[in-house]
This record gives sequence, structure tokens and C-alpha cells, in this order.
Amino acid sequence: MKLFENISLKPYTTFGIDVKARRMMMLEPGDEVPPLDGNVLVLGEGSNMVFTRDYDGTVITLAHSLSLSTPHSPLLTAWGGMVMDDLVQWTLDHDLFGLENLSAIPGTVGASAVQNVGAYGAEAKDFIENVEAYDLFEQRLCNFSNADCQFAYRDSFFKHHPGRYIILNVTYRLNQAFVPNLSYKALENLPHSTAHQLRQSIIDLRWSKLPRPEEHGSAGSFFKNPVVDEETYLRLKSEHPDMPDAHPLITHHSSLITYKLSAGWLIDHAGWKGRTMGGAGVWPKNALVLYNAGGCTGDEVVALARAIQQDVEQKFGVCLEPEAIII
Ligand SMILES: Cc1cc2nc3c(=O)[nH]c(=O)nc-3n(C[C@H](O)[C@H](O)[C@H](O)COP(=O)(O)OP(=O)(O)OC[C@H]3O[C@@H](n4cnc5c(N)ncnc54)[C@H](O)[C@@H]3O)c2cc1C
Repeated sequence: MKLFENISLKPYTTFGIDVKARRMMMLEPGDEVPPLDGNVLVLGEGSNMVFTRDYDGTVITLAHSLSLSTPHSPLLTAWGGMVMDDLVQWTLDHDLFGLENLSAIPGTVGASAVQNVGAYGAEAKDFIENVEAYDLFEQRLCNFSNADCQFAYRDSFFKHHPGRYIILNVTYRLNQAFVPNLSYKALENLPHSTAHQLRQSIIDLRWSKLPRPEEHGSAGSFFKNPVVDEETYLRLKSEHPDMPDAHPLITHHSSLITYKLSAGWLIDHAGWKGRTMGGAGVWPKNALVLYNAGGCTGDEVVALARAIQQDVEQKFGVCLEPEAIII
């Protein structure tokens, strides 16, 4: 275990905002978690976080060690601090399939369960068998089945208990045969005859639309795609016939039909793509992404996000909720 005092978080987050943490504890696989007082924040690669101030507490982070075990195939357990994309590459190199659609999503294995990361027609929840976490309140290890994790769109049980659980290991159930998941339409026309080929196609597609963290800081998609009722969807569709069609979503526990809209389209059509406010900007190739256009502060990112939320609400009557976590 490594301990740091008064440490800059700039290298530990993808937005590149210069704030400090009073204390940081970095755990390695096998370390025991000591009792902790005061505020605690668990940090992965900081790829979905925006810090607006110094953190007056303990940041716990897991070293990005490659640590894996195969309890029995096709189950694979990965250390929570492992970089998610290293895991994806490892699985394909060892003929275990399914995670290829999640290629190149920044962040760690532990956060993949917190966030239920998703892209190109797949979500982490489709593969997570169980999660081993350390409960900081009760100071004991605990196990969560897939159902216990209460996964939903970019959401999980853990997201509602910040500072309580450290996800130490995630076990995934993978496929032993490669069946390409081409449910995301654009993938059909890209090379996909092997899993490695599909992975490369997805990586190329991703970086044609997103800022590379090493070049421009961001948190990926800043807002969630809003889910609206049928009346709102039909009203918007008649006012804006060029708005992308949405499929009706029917939830199991209610008969309500809802529609998931494209937040990127709403922001783009409100005129925000490519605009900057202070040091924060809207990525010119993807209006869903707010980025660090040059030495931005967390407050500048939040001010830009609020301006976009107000404008979209005024123009379309739709509320945008941040996907990024603002600290
Ligand atoms: C360029 C770019 C593209 C992106 N594309 C996508 C995408 O396509 N799909 C998608 O879903 N996301 C995407 N994201 C968002 C981000 O990659 C995910 O949210 C990712 O899971 C965050 O991982 P992280 O390790 O950086 O977590 P952090 O940002 O450090 O933390 C996220 C949350 O998880 C918690 N957490 C992290 N690790 C642990 C742990 N071990 N135990 C308990 N809690 C923990 C944190 O407390 C926080 O609440 C993108 C981000 C960027 C910068």
C-alpha cells in the first residue's frame, strides 16, 4: 500500500483539472484495507469525474496491476484496479469473447461495475457474474451477485452508496465462441470476421468521434441520453422531423412506454457543438462531450454544463442529467 499527502489529482483524472487531495491511499492486490475516518472517495482512472475543488479527505485508488484468475472457464476474475481495456485485450488473446464491444472505454474494472459501462450494443452487466467489495462501514468483505448489483443504464447499487464500497474484484462470465454482436447498426459495415478485427473497428470508430484523453481532457459523454414519455417524444418528433427515431422502451414493472432520445442531437441542435465558455468546450465532433479546451477549472465545466441544460430545456422541454460525477 502506498500513502500520499496533499497530492495533485491532475495525473489521476482524464479531465486534467488541477486539484489536490489531502490524502491518497493506493492499494495493491492482497493489501488489507485499514479503518478510515472522515470523507472517503474511491477513484479509478478518474475518467468520469469532474473535480470542482480540492478533496478534503482520503482518496482510495487501486494500483492498475494486471491481476487475473480463472476460477473455472468461462468465468474470469479481474482485480478492480486493472485497466478495463487491458482486460478486454487479454480476454480476446485467450479466446474468451463478449467484451470486445467495450473496447477502449477508459477506466478500470472496478468502475465498469459501478458505472455499468456500455458502448456499441453491449453493457458490462451482460457479462458480470459477481462483484467482491470491501464494505468500509462494516469493515468486511462482501459479495454481490449480478442481481444484487441492480444494474441499469450507467447505474448500479454502488453508485447510490458512494464512499462505502471498494470494489476489489469483478468476475465476468464470457463466451467461448465468438459470435459478433452487431446490434449497433454502424458495426455491420465494418470488418468483424474475428473478435480482434471487431475490436479494432470499434477502437477506430470511437477515436474518430471522441477526444483521446492524452490529447484533450474530458469525461467522455457528459450527459445521459434522456428518457421521455410518449407524449413528449411524439411532440418533439412532429416539431423536429429530422430528430433521430427512438425505439419505445417498455419496462417490466410498469406498462409505461418511454423513449430514449439522443442527448448529443439535442445539444447539437441547440447550437452548442464546437462552442467554448472559458476553458471548457463542447467537442466539435460530438456534442455530448465537454472537454478541457485549455487549463479549464471544474467550475468552468459546470458553468458550461448548466448553460447547455438550461438552453436544451428551454428549446426542447427536455431535462439533461449529467453522466459525469461532479465532486
Ligand atoms: C474519452 C472517454 C470516452 C468514454 N466512453 C465511454 C463509453 O463509451 N461508455 C461508458 O459507459 N463510459 C465511457 N466513458 C466514461 C468512463 O470511461 C466510465 O465511466 C468508466 O467506467 C470510469 O472508470 P474510472 O476507473 O475512470 O472510474 P472513475 O471515473 O474514477 O470513477 C467512476 C465512479 O466509480 C467509482 N469507482 C471507481 N473505481 C471503484 C472501485 N474500485 N470501487 C468502488 N467504486 C469505484 C468512483 O467512486 C465513481 O463513483 C468515457 C470516458 C472518456 C474520458
